[in-house]
Amino acid sequence: MSSSGAVKKVVIAGGGTAGWVAAAALSKRLQGLVDVVLVESEEIGTVGVGESTIPPVTLFHNLLGIDEQEFMRATDATFKLGISFENWGQVGDRYIHPFGTTGKGSFLADFQHYYLHGLTQGIDAPFGDYCVELQAARAHKFAKPQGQGEAPLLSYAYHLDAGRYARFLRQFSEKLGCVRIEGKINTVTQHTNGDIRSLVLDDGQEVSGDLFIDCTGFRALLIEQTLHAGFERWDHWLPCNKAVVVQTQSAATLPPYTRAMAHDAGWQWKIPLQHRVGNGLVYAADFLSDEAARQRLLDGLETPALMEPRVISYQTGRRKQVWLNNCVAMGLSSGFIEPLESTSIYLFMNSVIRLLRLFPFAGVTPALAAEYNQQSVRELEKIRDFIILHYHQTERRDSPFWDYCRTMTVPDSLAQRIELFRDSALAFQTGDEMFRLESWTHVLLGQRLKPQSYHQLVQQIPPQDLSRHLQQIRDTIGRAVERLPSHREFIAHYCASG
Ligand code: FAD
Repeated sequence: MSSSGAVKKVVIAGGGTAGWVAAAALSKRLQGLVDVVLVESEEIGTVGVGESTIPPVTLFHNLLGIDEQEFMRATDATFKLGISFENWGQVGDRYIHPFGTTGKGSFLADFQHYYLHGLTQGIDAPFGDYCVELQAARAHKFAKPQGQGEAPLLSYAYHLDAGRYARFLRQFSEKLGCVRIEGKINTVTQHTNGDIRSLVLDDGQEVSGDLFIDCTGFRALLIEQTLHAGFERWDHWLPCNKAVVVQTQSAATLPPYTRAMAHDAGWQWKIPLQHRVGNGLVYAADFLSDEAARQRLLDGLETPALMEPRVISYQTGRRKQVWLNNCVAMGLSSGFIEPLESTSIYLFMNSVIRLLRLFPFAGVTPALAAEYNQQSVRELEKIRDFIILHYHQTERRDSPFWDYCRTMTVPDSLAQRIELFRDSALAFQTGDEMFRLESWTHVLLGQRLKPQSYHQLVQQIPPQDLSRHLQQIRDTIGRAVERLPSHREFIAHYCASG
């Protein structure tokens, strides 16, 4: 039990994206029940990256009642329909992992079985032709439905300016009564049972609370430096541990997707915002030096840099307990998988929702903490497997880095999924899993895994019916995408109105 009993005051340590996401959600949903205080240090600053998101961010904003147009104007956001993976299966390959659904299967056989059967019948349209988000992304188009039948309901997320997003959420939270304290945390004091009692700042100010949220980033000041929760390393599966990042001027095109371009020791991102482009080169320090990474990033820029490139080091893995005593870690303090599928912001949005569901109003109990920890690890390990898949499922043989990734031993849970797909084209999404079976299928097929067989039920369909079914899906998507405005036009209009 927490020494303080009932939780009446939550103290958030850290004001990066994680800190302000937590502050916004707690201030909004626990208004009148719990006081929320956030301590941050401008001198220390934030990690300053994390600008690509996945669709649940829209649900999170709905939960908070955030106005989308206001948010987009404040953060210079753009829409995102998926990620373009380039050079992953082989140098020169490209596929888009889109949001939304792909094709139309049946209760007993998912769409990929129809698609694979179609291939044997000479219908060789790519898998992506059956997904409206993917086709819209390819055409750089976007729209939100204005009324029935006008546009398809696209599943989307955002690219956003991380610094502006934290400021936006800060204003949002402060309006709801969240108190922000500027200052550097010098000491963390504890009760005799180990619970955190207070944060003592450099200026001597003491901030006490009943429940503490550690959002201090990689420093993990509370959960690790104070409570020693422990860290499970995943770098043997996810060997990239550095990124060199730079912002550049806007480019001529505004694609509604993130680009993830593999190179011989990692990969590079391009994230298009309204006012600039975010660029980063992710690499494994064992295979590429900082200087070579920096040069490679600069050589690949399409528009002039707006700053000096900056190197960020990280370690992949997870905090062994994210809720320990009266402290819950969110964001980078809780661990980090990899930026590849843009899951970090999603993960702490979901963490704060989980905390709201399990909120310890009457005091922290071991059962609440255990449940929270179990749910967190289940969710995280599935995402981890999905990301490892991108590195492992490759035919690249052009560098020691890819030789390592291709031949490494992967977690059993992932090895089984790959085998299942290879043998029988079966993919699935478990109840508590973020990525859908279509996500798995797009990446597996996109990275050249050819299933040896597929569900034989689809052979019962007469060939002309199958052909018509597949053609109809492609035609419907083609017509819908044709009608969409360009992504740039849509944003200009959307952000100017409302
Ligand atoms: P930080 O931003 O580091 O914030 C830490 C806060 O704690 C700061 O306010 C700091 O001032 C404060 N603090 C620390 N110590 C003290 C102290 N002693 N006293 C007072 N305050 C203190 N995520 C995505 O979802 N999509 C992406 O595309 C993506 N790309 C990424 C690329 C890279 C290379 C990396 C490393 C991460 C990426 N992430 C991405 C993750 C994302 O950046 C983070 O999850 C997100 O920014 C949240 O960070 P944070 O708030 O946990 O930490």
